Amino acid sequence: MSWEVAKQAIDYILDREDEFREESVTWDFIGGEPFLEIDLIDKICDYLKIEMYRRGHHWFNSYRFSFSTNGINYHTEKVQQFIEKNHRHLSIGITIDGTERKHDLNRIWKTPEMELGIMPKPEEERGSYKDVVKNIPFWLEQFPGGSTKVTISSADIPYIKESVLHLYSLGIHEVNINCVFEDVWKEGDDKLFEDQLTELADAIIDNNLYEDNACSFFTEHIGKPQDRIRDNQNWCGAGKMLAVDAAGNFYPCTRFAQYSLRSKPAWIIGNIHDGIDQNKLRPFLTLDRCTQSTTECIDCEVASGCAWCQGENYDAADTHTVYQRSTAICKMHKARVRANNYYWNKLFRKLELEGKQEEYERQKAKVKDPTC
Ligand code: SF4
Repeated sequence: MSWEVAKQAIDYILDREDEFREESVTWDFIGGEPFLEIDLIDKICDYLKIEMYRRGHHWFNSYRFSFSTNGINYHTEKVQQFIEKNHRHLSIGITIDGTERKHDLNRIWKTPEMELGIMPKPEEERGSYKDVVKNIPFWLEQFPGGSTKVTISSADIPYIKESVLHLYSLGIHEVNINCVFEDVWKEGDDKLFEDQLTELADAIIDNNLYEDNACSFFTEHIGKPQDRIRDNQNWCGAGKMLAVDAAGNFYPCTRFAQYSLRSKPAWIIGNIHDGIDQNKLRPFLTLDRCTQSTTECIDCEVASGCAWCQGENYDAADTHTVYQRSTAICKMHKARVRANNYYWNKLFRKLELEGKQEEYERQKAKVKDPTC
């Protein structure tokens, strides 16, 4: 993104305080590695602060800058200067996937040959685990409540237990995990997944790791039927948060940009010059659970916590619509619910035996489901 595009996008948003009326704002730098562009981001954040102050904008005292980073450049001087300057308003999540072998399954360094389309042999690939893990203590010192987000695909399943325990051992006490929404699951993956989660439940409970740690796989409220009226909200905020790409186009979420889609055209809802086309945004504003789900999902006995991604729904749909829910995750959710029931039953019995019912209530309240 050029500075001119960034500035115009900011001006567009701040000029319309009546339209963007939310009490607070998160300026989220996502979709690529943000710290590769730290000079530009520093300039953008300075401009935002000055403009919010100059205009007396109601967000001036209620804003955050949010980053999802691969952590490679975290220790560099420029990134550290930026952190020092903005610390009070920063949320930074470093993505580390677990153990070295799990992390390096997906996160490998680019080689010059890759630019020419020549992929290295597996034994020649160099993963980034070692480059990231050395920055974790430093990050946790600066952001003591730091959490990480792990995404599971079919090949990752055998490493779930060791990865969560490894992240805890690094001092990351909150591990948010979810399965990808794409249709990647193979025959038997649900059984393997359930086994991994059950073993993880045993390790967490038998070693009292639940006291200081949390893992979003185990969430007490999931796996229950949902009311058609009371529990009818959409899963995510697509359409209620604005995404801007490098060319200045607007999207309902970054998942609707062309680089995020496999088979559908980008869903552009406007741009920094012409503004938002409300007609293109309209379908997102009436989305709810029942209008996009089949009867099987609406009446499902384990529906709560069964997530969807609006971008994946659009990408996988038979027609150009966001009203067809993709259910590729179905058997994985059911496996998670079985392991989740095992976790909470086991924890309840243990704490009941120890006369610690209050601790059980505390545990129930502490974990929230990650959105996307
Ligand atoms: S996708 Fe499967 S588990 Fe999820 S709500 Fe639908 S039927 Fe239930």
